[in-house]
Amino acid sequence: MNVRVRMAPSPTGSPHVGMIRTALFNWAFARHHGGTFVFRIEDTDKERSTRESLDAIIDLMRWLGLDWDEGPGVGGPYGPYFQSERGELYADALARLLEAGHAYPCFCTNDEVEARRKASGSKVMGYDGFCRNLDAETIAAYNAEGRPSVPRLRMPDGSITWNDLVRGEVTFETKFVPDYALARANGDPLYTLVNPVDDAYMKITHVLRGEDLLSSTPRQIALYAALQDIGIAEFTPEFGHLPYVMGEGNKKLSKRDPEAHALAYRDQGFLPEGLLNYLALLGWAIAADRDVFSLEEMVDAFDIRDVNPNPARFDLKKCEAINASHMHRLSTEEITRRALPYLKRDGVLTDPVSPADQQLLELAMPFVAERVNKLTEVGDLLRFLFVPEQDFVVDPADKEKVVDTEDGQAVVQAAYDALLRVEPWSAARINDALQEALVEEMGLKPRVAFGPVRVAVTGKRVSPPLFESLELLGRERSLSRLQAALG
Ligand code: GLU
Repeated sequence: MNVRVRMAPSPTGSPHVGMIRTALFNWAFARHHGGTFVFRIEDTDKERSTRESLDAIIDLMRWLGLDWDEGPGVGGPYGPYFQSERGELYADALARLLEAGHAYPCFCTNDEVEARRKASGSKVMGYDGFCRNLDAETIAAYNAEGRPSVPRLRMPDGSITWNDLVRGEVTFETKFVPDYALARANGDPLYTLVNPVDDAYMKITHVLRGEDLLSSTPRQIALYAALQDIGIAEFTPEFGHLPYVMGEGNKKLSKRDPEAHALAYRDQGFLPEGLLNYLALLGWAIAADRDVFSLEEMVDAFDIRDVNPNPARFDLKKCEAINASHMHRLSTEEITRRALPYLKRDGVLTDPVSPADQQLLELAMPFVAERVNKLTEVGDLLRFLFVPEQDFVVDPADKEKVVDTEDGQAVVQAAYDALLRVEPWSAARINDALQEALVEEMGLKPRVAFGPVRVAVTGKRVSPPLFESLELLGRERSLSRLQAALG
């Protein structure tokens, strides 16, 4: 069987890491099996769907490199891939379900249903099947009166069982799964209808999605049977429900948690492969003793049956550590290439980059590449080299603590005097001069000796190696910053 899976986000709000985890597992499953990854936009809820959210999801998928074989911008044999453009298919499916008796019009109001439930003392929530067996004349009469109705699926009696690819056998007694509405009274189709109808038309073989949708699966399985009966579905897909992602305090990670927003990782300079590697660990492992792997390795090894059904905990620290491991796997040239958009965005470099800055960047990168855990940290470390002199500022807290003290001032003065005589201006000579003046003559420990110089010339206490930083900055700017630091 040709594997066909899909990611079917509703474009409402900012994309959530859980959505991306689902996309990743579907993508890896498709790639592992040489199958097809379909990207479908579930924008039936017109009030809540926004263009902004859609664009954010698409941008994110492109940034992550989770390429799709069918969907927006790509097309495919089962399009359109936007539910908002598939209205006729849903209307047709609904008409046929009603015609065949798999669905029936229900004229009850919520209040009526609730009143009956109270009167009967039933504990089963939801619809009680009151309109299941209305005869044709009654229906015609109600329609003639203009009574609003919604179509409901007639759930089968007994139980519904499936072999969940993640959770094993799952059974629901259908007496607890009431007949449910497939469309609104105005005819607008609901998720309950459109999702399985699309999966059927798109020949989706495996539905891999979050555990929050587990309770809709028995309903959908019943609908699939009906869709098969009327010739719309050829088969019922297999299902696998991915574990919940928990945040702080063991609560489900929600849109209110800042770490839930997937785009924030791109903005903060995470690598796509770092984020994806971390998200893969939310339910899956490549091996018991191994956390860091590439996407290709994941594709090779991925088996949905290995996914752990227990809730996964989102741990930002671990996410950062995994990202750092991926950073350290990249060459200096690659980090430079990837950091460039951030350096421009953050105003560290101009756009376009001047040839002089480009050269300075290439000289400086070997000293920072191994020190950075995220792409934005390149700019944090190198800003002092590129900032126009009139805009250079020293971190006020560091200045007060390290430079403005009596000892700090003495060090800066001695460094200034020693550097005046350095010739040629190279890291090695700068090293010799500062060692001699500060460590040997003043008798200071290196940490104490170099701290004030570092803060004065780079603006803060964390910088690339000091002597190289001074060499790159040049004699003139180094001396003038030291002079400026003397109170
Ligand atoms: N649009 C649904 C959601 O975002 C997709 C549900 C599914 O994958 O079946 O929750």
